[in-house]
Amino acid sequence: MSQNLEEIAQSVSNCTACELHYTRTLAVPGEGPADADIMLIGEGPGKNEDLQGKPFVGQAGKFLTELLAQAGLTREDVFICNVVKCRPPMNRDPLPEEISACGKFLDAQIDTIKPKIIITLGRFSMAKFLPGVKISQVHGKMKQVGDYFVIPMFHPAAALHQPNLKETILADFANLPKLLHIAEARLTREENENLSTKSQENPAPKQLRML
Ligand code: URA
Repeated sequence: MSQNLEEIAQSVSNCTACELHYTRTLAVPGEGPADADIMLIGEGPGKNEDLQGKPFVGQAGKFLTELLAQAGLTREDVFICNVVKCRPPMNRDPLPEEISACGKFLDAQIDTIKPKIIITLGRFSMAKFLPGVKISQVHGKMKQVGDYFVIPMFHPAAALHQPNLKETILADFANLPKLLHIAEARLTREENENLSTKSQENPAPKQLRML
């Protein structure tokens, strides 16, 4: 049975499954509409996120808001969360055991929201869906993984620190509306194929919530 997002957030806040709970101020479960078509998954909370209990509220978050605007989206249109829900001390990379301990929460969020499109931000969330690939080779390209369309993007913080990546991530987000239309067309086609297989009447094509 899928849980609701508040129940998952409560479990995240009470979690003591890995070392990160000792040093967190607040856990950062994630935020956004429960029926979001697009889910963005980052790495882990930083200092500001740890203090406020909200994802992407620091410098990288400001840039992420700009990137979404490039694609005609607002933060209210999407669900934003992270691979690990508590801040790794000194913003170090999350450890494999931390990612694994937190995985049940991310899986429960995906299962509850059932987004159409998952945008991974950085290599840790990308590795969950596209293990073994190099972000430099696949960034900005959409791939169907099981029930989801996955679009790996560079992490906004990396782009802030490496000016040559900034242009690339801006261009990747500017191309997002095109990818969303492709995903929508494929979903509509699949839906129509399923319906005609069942010899039912075809309804008007469904629009994704954010389009
Ligand atoms: N970086 C992340 O990966 N997640 C946040 O929430 C903030 C910064």
